[in-house]
Amino acid sequence: MEIKFERYHLQSDLRSPLKGFETVAVPTEKRIDPLTKRHSRIITFSLPSKGKFAFTQMAEESKGCIFCPENVFLKTPKFLEDIATEGRILVGKAIGFPNLNPIGTYGSIVVLCPEHFLNINEFTPEIYEEGLSVAIEIIRRTMAFDPNACYWQINQNYLFPAGSTILHPHLQVIGDPIPTNEMELLLNNSSSYQQTNESIYWNDLIQIERDLGERYIAKNGKVHWLASFAPIGFNEVCGSVEGHGSVLTLNKEEITSLSKGIVSTLKYYYEKDLNSFNFSIYSISGEPTHQLLIRIISRTPIQPYYPNDWTSFKVLQSEPTSYIIPEELCREIRPYFT
Ligand SMILES: [Zn+2]
Repeated sequence: MEIKFERYHLQSDLRSPLKGFETVAVPTEKRIDPLTKRHSRIITFSLPSKGKFAFTQMAEESKGCIFCPENVFLKTPKFLEDIATEGRILVGKAIGFPNLNPIGTYGSIVVLCPEHFLNINEFTPEIYEEGLSVAIEIIRRTMAFDPNACYWQINQNYLFPAGSTILHPHLQVIGDPIPTNEMELLLNNSSSYQQTNESIYWNDLIQIERDLGERYIAKNGKVHWLASFAPIGFNEVCGSVEGHGSVLTLNKEEITSLSKGIVSTLKYYYEKDLNSFNFSIYSISGEPTHQLLIRIISRTPIQPYYPNDWTSFKVLQSEPTSYIIPEELCREIRPYFT
């Protein structure tokens, strides 16, 4: 096995006004992702929490949106007849339909619940079980219509800092015949790894992380939850689903395991006074070296004088930063997975 956890210590010395202008050393750790070789920085300072944001007024003022129950069947698009003759795909309370403003070949929305707003500790495994089931059905039917569309993302952008324009909880399901940058990076590197090692990278990583015990959070059915060694975003939690490359082959139990892990992560985020997050599921058919992956990150919460966390360092230098040490995140979040 050839999995290396490379890290470099960087240090900045300065005379600090917080310590009577004595010289202090501020460390930063630069880490290299063992698969993608992407560099990340772990910084040791973060802004103090401003407490939990009160959403009552924002939720009240934006109520009655196009995803609310009184509008959703009147104001949202319907699928092509060849994909879904009934127009929209429903499982429980979740409703799937095409995105009026898609950003790819196949773009859909899944409204997760009738409630216009949920605090992130109010999401339940049932909400995600139903939402993911709709997303999977959309992918299944679309691929029956167009088998070339094998690169799929199931995303959630929750609240404005995460890029959502609508408060109402929803997923984005996007499919294309070509991969995204991130998918290509994962595919190229897992394929090279397989050629050299004759094994699947993710299974080897899971085995090493389980043995080390520093970043391995929990196993829930076939889903292994980890704190990423070199995170792309804040509080990054990954779930690798053993034995699957695409969501299409998941059974009910495995959908439940994924849903429970998402909810456990969100409950931890809530306790840390966070209120906004992104996740992405990388679902790819016909690529035997790819293992189904979900990546969840928190965003700087909505708060007075909100600072955007996507700085030039990330956008223009492609150098992700994280203010929590992954090993600490793992220790803190583990109890939420029991
Ligand atoms: Zn609404």
